[in-house]
Amino acid sequence: MSTDTSRRRALRPSGKLLQEDARRHHRALILQELFAEGPRSRADLARSSGLTRVTVSDLVAELIDGGLVAELGAPVESRIGKPPILVGLRGDALQIVVLDLSVDDQVTGAVLTLSGEVCSRDQQSLGGAKGDAALALVHTLARRLLDRAERRVLGIGVGSPGIVDPSGTVVDAPNLGWHHVPLAEGLHEAFGLPVYVANDANTAVLGEHTYGHAGEGGLMLLRVGTGVGAGLVLDGALLHGHRNAAGEIGHVVVDPDGAPCACGRTGCLETVVAVPHLRPRLAEAADPDAVRTAVGEQLGRVLAPVVGALNLHELVLSGPSELLDGALLAATDRVIREYTMPVSGEGLVVRTSTLGDDVVLLGAAVLVLAGELGVS
Ligand SMILES: [Zn+2]
Repeated sequence: MSTDTSRRRALRPSGKLLQEDARRHHRALILQELFAEGPRSRADLARSSGLTRVTVSDLVAELIDGGLVAELGAPVESRIGKPPILVGLRGDALQIVVLDLSVDDQVTGAVLTLSGEVCSRDQQSLGGAKGDAALALVHTLARRLLDRAERRVLGIGVGSPGIVDPSGTVVDAPNLGWHHVPLAEGLHEAFGLPVYVANDANTAVLGEHTYGHAGEGGLMLLRVGTGVGAGLVLDGALLHGHRNAAGEIGHVVVDPDGAPCACGRTGCLETVVAVPHLRPRLAEAADPDAVRTAVGEQLGRVLAPVVGALNLHELVLSGPSELLDGALLAATDRVIREYTMPVSGEGLVVRTSTLGDDVVLLGAAVLVLAGELGVS
C-alpha cells in the first residue's frame, strides 16, 4: 500500500483566506441571502450569515453606496416598538446581457435585470454561417443588446453548444464549426466587460435551479434541441466532470442497429430524441403517441441508471413541448420507476421545464451573477 501523501487530494484550500477574499466571501453571503430570500433586516442577515452585526452593517453600507442594495423601510407588521429597517437587492440597479447559441441557425439574446426580468430581446439569424462568420454574428448581436441596456451592465453570459472549458473557450461545437474558439476572451476584448460562457445544457440547469422553482435535491436537466445534452446540479453545485464533459449523454449508444449519428457512431440517444430526428418521425407516424411512448421508454432506460446512481430529486426535460409533453414524458417517468429501486422513485419528480425557451438565457444570467456577485 502506498503511503505517498502527495497523491492525496485536498478537499479545501489550505492556509488562511486572504483578507480581501474573506470580504468578498462575506459580501457574497449577504447578497446570496437577499437574492434567495428577499428583503431582510441587518439583524436577520447577521443571524443567517453568522457574521457580526458590525460586519453586516459595514457590508450593507458598502452595497448601498455601490447601488446594489437599498433600504426599503420597515415591514407593516412590526409597527410596535422600534421597527427594523429592511434592506433589499435592487433588482433593477444593474443589467445583464445574455446570449443563447443553442437555437438552430440563430443566436437569441436579451437584456435582463438582476431579478431575471426581460427588458429587451433580440435575435440574429446565422444564415448557415459557421466558424469565424458565425462568431462575427455573435459579436453583432452582443453589440446591439449592449446598446439597448439602460443601466450599467454587470457582465455578459453565454450558453453555447459543445464542450466549453472553464476559461470560456469553446473546445468543440460541430454545429457552429468551432474548434478551440476563445469566445469569452474575444467578447471581453471587444466590449471590456466580464464574460462567462458555459455549455448550453449546463447553463439551462443553472437557470432551472435558480429561477425554475427547483427543489433542494439533485437536479438533472435534459436539453432536447438540435442535439441532446444534460446538465446536473448536485448538492447545490454544477457538475463539470473530469474533462468538462459531464452530462454528454446524447452520444450514448441506445440502439447499435439504429441510425448513423453526426459523431460517427450508430444509434446514439441523439438519433432517437433530438428534434431533427424526432419531429419528422412524429409527422409521418400513423399513431404519433405510440412513437412518443416508444421514445419515452427508450429515454427512461437510458436515464434510469443515472437516476439510480445519483438518487436525483428532479429530472427535467427541456425542449419543444409538443414533442416532450404528454405520452413521451409519461413513458420516461414510468420506465425510470420500473427500472430502479423503489427508494429511487420515492420523491422523484419527472417534469418539463417551467421556463420554456428562456431557460438558457436565464441560466446565462446566473453565470454572471455567480461570477460577479457570488450569487446563484
Ligand atoms: Zn453520436
